[in-house]
Amino acid sequence: VKQSCLSLLAILITTQLCLTTPSLNAAESGSTETHTPRSVILIIGDGFDDQHLTMARNYLAGNAGTLGLDALPVRGAVQIETVSPDGTRLYAADSANTATSLATGAVTNIGRIGTDAQDRDRVTVLELAAHAGYATGLVSTSSVTDATPASFAAHVNIRMCEGPDITNGGELYGQPFSGCPSDATQNGGAGSIAEQLAKAPVDILLGGGAKFFDQSIPGQSQTVIEWAQAQGVRVIRQKDNLANLPASGRVIGLFDKENLEVRWRGTDGRTAENADVSWLNRIDWRLGSSADPEPMECEPNPDYGDTPSLAAMTEAALTGLAARSDKGLFLMVESASIDKQSHKRNPCGSIGEIEQLEEALAAALRFADDHPNTLVIVTADHAQAAQILPEPSLFAAVPVPVYSPGKVARVKTPEGGVMRINYATNNFPKAEEHTGANVPLFGNAVAQGVLKPFMRQRDVHQAMLAYLGLNEEETTP
Ligand SMILES: [Zn+2]
Repeated sequence: VKQSCLSLLAILITTQLCLTTPSLNAAESGSTETHTPRSVILIIGDGFDDQHLTMARNYLAGNAGTLGLDALPVRGAVQIETVSPDGTRLYAADSANTATSLATGAVTNIGRIGTDAQDRDRVTVLELAAHAGYATGLVSTSSVTDATPASFAAHVNIRMCEGPDITNGGELYGQPFSGCPSDATQNGGAGSIAEQLAKAPVDILLGGGAKFFDQSIPGQSQTVIEWAQAQGVRVIRQKDNLANLPASGRVIGLFDKENLEVRWRGTDGRTAENADVSWLNRIDWRLGSSADPEPMECEPNPDYGDTPSLAAMTEAALTGLAARSDKGLFLMVESASIDKQSHKRNPCGSIGEIEQLEEALAAALRFADDHPNTLVIVTADHAQAAQILPEPSLFAAVPVPVYSPGKVARVKTPEGGVMRINYATNNFPKAEEHTGANVPLFGNAVAQGVLKPFMRQRDVHQAMLAYLGLNEEETTP
């Protein structure tokens, strides 16, 4: 199996060579000649499905307008794959197993970080790139220990093992939690995600999650971040520090305790609401009536404060990484709270984070303009709950109450419309759930011939490896 996979990779690389410049051919065939660096910038919108993409276009550019994403020359769709522990296929995923597919090529179980369904650690594209001499970075608006960034540089069997306090078990959100004892430092494992990231070959790591790095390493007097500093890692905690990142060495930037604050919210913090329904309204002799929630505006989130933007973190990472390696770089950028705000039924929150993704994409494309051979990919990990529904309902005139069984937000758009966003995956007051549709895929001109119109997440992984000339040590089962 290993042999056939390697020859497949050889074919992919050969195909690549046919399309590239002679000087690059010489470099990749083993010559020590200098060559143009190659870079991959992978932008992941968490929960960024076509419903969210369309919501953002309607709001940010108008119904007839286009987003920056829409101008990219390569466009396709990515199928999500998930397996249960007994091996049967599942049709809706989480961010851990999907980021693990993109990072490692493994099709794995919900909740797993950088490990396959047999609980084996799988080498990631970031680890391979670092080993090959590329500069590497992870940037996210979530805790850097959260599923998407973690899957590129850590290996644990349950995503909740973010910091050392919980790794050997304990209580999480008021519930008993078994932890991931085989990973715990005190049991000879590699430790929690924070402990692993502190040691990982990530040159620049930016996002939230200070809470997990400020926990003590079991059996030691140091916290995770103190340990990292003692190894020479530069630690920053303020947005202003992004302007002057050191040109060498490792950097960890932690700008919030957990996830970074989001940019927007609904009017006075409103999220989607239930219709006000009354049955058997005898006054007008109908069987009842329903009243929709009042429309809302999107407004700045007052808690956003001095949170660094995703674009500012992306620009700082690209500048810093370009200074670190003549070979090129691998950078993963995540707009994490498109998903988190969809769980909270907050469409304005999601739209503001898609605006952040657009700005980060613009930064990536500016870098690609100055650095030829930069492959820019934008995709999502999984689909989310929000749906755009007719406003008003097609059945509004029927003389019985017709309303969504879920919650509805009616968002006033800048062009004067009302966009009705519905959330109805469950009746749980705290959170919506992911959905199972395939997700969008975009690429810049460099992606032509590298990406295909329809791929699986593990194919996107292989395409990144092929582009950077990386070889996996083990094959996909
Ligand atoms: Zn989610």
